[in-house]
Amino acid sequence: MPSGVSKYLSRLDVKLTFYYTLIILFLLAVFTGFFLYRLNRSLLKQVDRILYDEGNELLQEIRGATDVSEGCRVYEQHVANRKHFPIAFRILNKSGELVYNSKEVVNLVLPPMEGETKRFYTMATSLSNYPLRIYGHKIVLDKADDFTIQMVTETRESVEILESLVQSIIPGLLIILFLSIICGMLTSRKPRQIISDITSVTQRISSQNLNERLAVPAAHDEIYDLTTTINIMLDRLQNSFQEIKQFTADVSHELRNPLFSVKGEMEVALSQARTGQEYREIIQECLERVNSLSKMVNDLFLISRFELKKVDLEILYLNLSEILQDLHGFFLPLAEEKKLTFTIDRCDSVLINGDKTRILQLLNNLIDNAIKFTPGHGSVTLSLISDTATVRFSVKDTGIGIPEREIPYIFDRLYQVDKSRSGSSRGTGLGLHICRKIVEVHGGSIAVTNNEEKGVTFTVILPKA
Ligand code: ADP
Repeated sequence: MPSGVSKYLSRLDVKLTFYYTLIILFLLAVFTGFFLYRLNRSLLKQVDRILYDEGNELLQEIRGATDVSEGCRVYEQHVANRKHFPIAFRILNKSGELVYNSKEVVNLVLPPMEGETKRFYTMATSLSNYPLRIYGHKIVLDKADDFTIQMVTETRESVEILESLVQSIIPGLLIILFLSIICGMLTSRKPRQIISDITSVTQRISSQNLNERLAVPAAHDEIYDLTTTINIMLDRLQNSFQEIKQFTADVSHELRNPLFSVKGEMEVALSQARTGQEYREIIQECLERVNSLSKMVNDLFLISRFELKKVDLEILYLNLSEILQDLHGFFLPLAEEKKLTFTIDRCDSVLINGDKTRILQLLNNLIDNAIKFTPGHGSVTLSLISDTATVRFSVKDTGIGIPEREIPYIFDRLYQVDKSRSGSSRGTGLGLHICRKIVEVHGGSIAVTNNEEKGVTFTVILPKA
């Protein structure tokens, strides 16, 4: 098939029209068939009524005559000139022998009555172009004799009525067919138009052009649902692309600065002869920067594994109070070095289901931040409170706090309130984001609030084991 034709035939509106038309044709065929069947039946009934009445008339003639043949002759004359439904008949005696027959049915072989007293049937014969309708009736004329009367007529007129009806139905059907094709094409044009609009808009959309949206119809129909769903999907895609772009830009920026400073320090070291001590100091400095770079890369890798849901967790029963006390012991020297009061306010004994490494990482980050962002002579207070189904861990400090407007973004990836606040520790803005991811995979939540006086309180809520 030429590609133009096959393309036309595979068009949605053409296919829909084809299916509409097929359905309409099928319905019309069923309806017409049923109508013709019913009409044929009622026409036959009318013919049967005529035969029945004529049979009765023949009987009356026979009863009124001196003998059967005399009655039949009178009746034959009586129906001789009949134009519509011409009548022929014959009479058989008890043993099936012919007693009388009208001229037309001399050679007609009619089936026997086979025990019935009345029977209507149709028979095709060479005597007529049309099937014959026959009414057979067994009658008892006097006590001794019984006879069979067979009344015969042509079905020509009813066949003609049916034929002329079929002839007028055919053009009607053709007109309906033509109209259904036109209507089908008109009604299926709109869905086709909508689909080609959707196709052309979506074809124009690429990663460089995610701003375009589909026109949403006013009516709340399936097209409305489809276009809104596609638009929502595009919104999500656009956000993801934006996030990826932003992330790539942020990461390359974060990696570039420490890399450049390592490179710079090495270049300076090589620019002139140095003592062994000087080389050691420069290498030490570079190592610190490389360490923080490698921590950042590890954190980014962990985040991407969280996002791909590929972090392997080894969920065990964890005694959170024990972990907290260990961490307190671990951080105490650091806090004391900064002259901070570092205490555990309350420590309920509680078990959770969790991955020890990740839970340690979570608590570590929060305590480390609290100590980092609290100036000397301040305080950091930990507490672990067991509720009915959850456990609440909080780290409260009297540090520099977080501006209220920054709080909604504090758990975002690479978000730092102000780089200078991290001082020499060169933060990356990944710690709190990882904290949120860890809390989420453990089915909990994390929040931060500014304290009334000074500093902030981070609160983690986790389900109890
Ligand atoms: P970073 O590595 O920079 O510390 P985090 O994700 O841990 O990254 O923290 C993000 C930012 O949140 C930090 O840059 C800091 O400004 C702020 N922040 C975190 N914890 C505290 C805290 N306890 N007090 C004040 N500011 C904090």
